[in-house]
Amino acid sequence: MYDLLLKGGRIYDGSGMPSYYADVAIEGGKIIEIGRLNGTASRTLNMDGLAVAPGFIDPHTHLDAQLFWDPLGTSSCFHGVTSVIVGNCGLSLAPAKPENRDAVIKSFVRVEAISRRVLEEGIQWKWNSTGEYLNALGTRLGINAAALVGHIAVRHCVMGEDAVERQATAAEIAKMRELVRQGMEAGAVGFSTNQNPRHIREDKKPVASRLAADEELGSLLDVLGEMNRGVVQLSGGGADARGRIAYAAQMARRTGRPVLWQSINHSWSRPNHWQEMLANTQRVFREEGLPIYAMTQAKPFQNRYTLLDAQCFDEFPTWKSAMFSPMPARKQMFADPAIRKKLRAEAIEDQSPSVFPRRWDVIFVDHVKLPKNKIFERKTVQEVAGAEGKDGLDWFLDISLEEDLETRFVHTNTQGDPKAVCEILKHPAVMIGQSDAGAHMGYDARFGYSTAFLGCWVRDHSIMSLEEAVNKLTFRVASVFGLSDRGLLRPGFAADIAVFDPATVNTFEPEYVQDLPANETRMIQKAAGVPHTIVNGEVVIENGAPTGALPGKVLRPNG
Ligand SMILES: [Zn+2]
Repeated sequence: MYDLLLKGGRIYDGSGMPSYYADVAIEGGKIIEIGRLNGTASRTLNMDGLAVAPGFIDPHTHLDAQLFWDPLGTSSCFHGVTSVIVGNCGLSLAPAKPENRDAVIKSFVRVEAISRRVLEEGIQWKWNSTGEYLNALGTRLGINAAALVGHIAVRHCVMGEDAVERQATAAEIAKMRELVRQGMEAGAVGFSTNQNPRHIREDKKPVASRLAADEELGSLLDVLGEMNRGVVQLSGGGADARGRIAYAAQMARRTGRPVLWQSINHSWSRPNHWQEMLANTQRVFREEGLPIYAMTQAKPFQNRYTLLDAQCFDEFPTWKSAMFSPMPARKQMFADPAIRKKLRAEAIEDQSPSVFPRRWDVIFVDHVKLPKNKIFERKTVQEVAGAEGKDGLDWFLDISLEEDLETRFVHTNTQGDPKAVCEILKHPAVMIGQSDAGAHMGYDARFGYSTAFLGCWVRDHSIMSLEEAVNKLTFRVASVFGLSDRGLLRPGFAADIAVFDPATVNTFEPEYVQDLPANETRMIQKAAGVPHTIVNGEVVIENGAPTGALPGKVLRPNG
């Protein structure tokens, strides 16, 4: 007797081959048979009209801490995600000796915008090494998790606070190499680093990995090459994408390992830049045959912020000094006409590439504090400023000052242009899923990258077949990360399964809930058309609600 029988669904097996109708039998957490099956089962689910696919594997999350208080990794699990990779962008919670824990928190707080109180209350540090972290994580999981070793933690572990002050010595690099090796031997799926020039800690210092010389990074990555294991994840940023692609190619040549680099996305401040990045990636990926993949987002990255918490002005010096000034000095700066002149020059008049869109017609008023200002919600700053005959910047600062800096704005940082997004998503060297699940909890939620991709881009924009789309969300990711028994529906493979309705699958707009440790608020995101998420043969989500089952495992690669 089977444990679970999925009857009459259409099988999208993850390989990209044509879909077909069949039943799937599960026993002991694995798929044991696929075909027309007549055996009996403890539980049979009717799959009429539904697609049965391997569970989606989210390659880029920051759920490192959240999985301890929320073992299902909500909201990822609502969207058919059965496995997540943590430890991205150089940020991992291990290795960390007790004296280095605060340095790791300082980096998470600012780069991933997770509040210090949440991390302090939510993490019970029971580990020093990566292996101990993986064991602690594995004690209670609803979905599966695999981890990268993060450069920032490794650097602090060896150099203490010197890690944010200087380059490493040869002896320190040797110790770091040893930590990377131990992490990989304990089951990590790769190594991540962060050279993003905008990434700073809570105390304004650059994150530790940014101080690494090229030779340090190269020699840490050599460990993966020597072991012939693991993925290299490079988190970059700033204007020089061409340089980042060249660097990714150099590291792929040097180590022979797959390199994931960040990222190809459309941005309003450089609307055609994505084409150049795709062409450059294509050159190294296809012509040189290097395993380089660019990450991209399936959902526009919405940035919601007030002048109490905004990070989108960090690259402008006058703005940054205002945002790091305490009240009331910050308000005085925003009110001062001479300073406004500088703020305008930096954010609007300067035309160099930036995260901030530099135009008021794509920045919306999201939420106001005073009832009399309600009429401005969901209008652009350009529209309302124009109606009052004011300059956009003056209006933006005036309403913020009037509301104690609590006025919330929203703009699309990236992926605002659908034509560009279609081309990026279709490219074979692009990996979908820069969800950043678990990070930036107050700005946006992109847990639903998979359902947005299937609903908006694959169904509504018809950019590719459903078979190819499922392949991109499953087998390709499993293959790059070396998860050799996931990502396909085949007898003998783990029974991680996403069940969805191709006609209705979609993602909802994020909503605020207050369910974090320390009673703090975050954004979650629900899905439409995903009736079942199955992990290791057990249903964990049924019609949008958790069943209480916690069958998740830490995934360690098999070679
Ligand atoms: Zn990230």
